[in-house]
Amino acid sequence: MSAGEFDLIARIRARVAQREDVVLGIGDDAALVQPPPGRHLVIAMDTLNAGVHFPPETSPADIGWKALAVNLSDLAAMGAEPAWCTLSLSLPHSDPIWLDAFIDGFSELAAQHRVALIGGDTTRGPLSVCVTVHGFVAPDRALRRDAARAGDDLWVTGTLGDAAAALAQWRAAAPGEASSQEPDEAARPLRSRLDRPTPRVSTGLRLVGVAHAAIDVSDGLLADLGHVLRASGVGAELDIDALPASPALLAAFGTDERRVLQSSGGDDYELCFSAPVAVRETLARFSTDSDTPLTRIGRVIADPELRIVDRDGRPWQAGRTGYDHFA
Ligand code: ADP
Ligand code: MG
Repeated sequence: MSAGEFDLIARIRARVAQREDVVLGIGDDAALVQPPPGRHLVIAMDTLNAGVHFPPETSPADIGWKALAVNLSDLAAMGAEPAWCTLSLSLPHSDPIWLDAFIDGFSELAAQHRVALIGGDTTRGPLSVCVTVHGFVAPDRALRRDAARAGDDLWVTGTLGDAAAALAQWRAAAPGEASSQEPDEAARPLRSRLDRPTPRVSTGLRLVGVAHAAIDVSDGLLADLGHVLRASGVGAELDIDALPASPALLAAFGTDERRVLQSSGGDDYELCFSAPVAVRETLARFSTDSDTPLTRIGRVIADPELRIVDRDGRPWQAGRTGYDHFA
C-alpha cells in the first residue's frame, strides 16, 4: 500500500495528542503556541539516520520512540519541562503501516511527558528522522555545562554501557544474520536500552536548584563529561569501578570490556551531573523516593585534567573516549 504526502500527514495528525497551549497545530503553514509568561524557551534538535543511529532492522515503533527520547534527554539535561515538538521525516517509501507504527512509538513516549507534536515536514529520501523539542525553564535555572565547580561530587543516573553492549552484540552477530536476528533472552534487556532509552526528564526537573552542571550521556561518559569539564574550566577524578552496571551487563561482559563500554559507550541517555557535597542527603532521598538510581562516581577538581582510577586507586587508561561522527 502506498499513500501520498498529504495522506501521510493526515495519518500523523489523527494519531497525536494536543495541549491547551497549542493555539494552532498541524495543518497550517506554521504552528502557533502560547509559551508561559516569564519562562525561557529551551530548544533542542537531534537527528536519527538509519544505519548510523539505529540498526536498519529496528522496528518503526522503536525508531519513533527513540527519535523523541534522544531529544527529551537533551531537555532533561537542561532541567527543562518539555512541551512541544516538530518532526521532519525522510522516508524511502510511502508506507502507511510503517508510519502508523512509527507514530505509535513516538506518541507512547510523547503521552508520558505530555509533549504535543505541532508540525513538521514529510519528504522522500533515505530513512532519517529529525525532531526538535521545545520546553521551558525559569530564567537562570537551567542546568548548564559550564556550571561545575571544584569540590562538587560527580553523579550519574541509572546504569551505563547497556546500549553500547547491545550494539557490540549486534555487530558481533554473523553478517546476514544480523539483519534478521532477534536478540536472545539474555541480550534482550541490553537491546531494549538501545532501542527504547528512557529520557530522565523528571530527574532533570528535580535537579534544578540542587545540581550545578548537567549533561546527558549520548556519546559516552568520558566524552560527555569532558564537555562539562572544558566548559567549566575544571577537571575531575573518576572511579572507573564506581560506574553503575546493570545485571545484564555484568552477566555478559568481563571487567575490562565492561569498563570500556561503561566509560566510552554512547546511547545510554543517562544524566551525568555535578552537585555540591551538601546535597548528598537530598539526592539520596530523591533517589529512593523516585526509584531512580543515582550513583556518585567521582569529584570535580580545580586542575583541568581527568584522572581515572580503578577500585585499588591505580590509574586507569581510557582508549577511545566516545562517539564522534567525523572521527
Ligand atoms: P508547507 O508546504 O506549507 O510547508 P506541508 O505540506 O509541508 O506545509 O505541511 C502541512 C502541515 O503538516 C504543516 O502544518 C506541517 O507542519 C505538518 N506536517 C508535515 N509533515 C509533518 C510531520 N512529519 N509531522 C508533523 N507534522 C507535519
Ligand atoms: Mg506552506
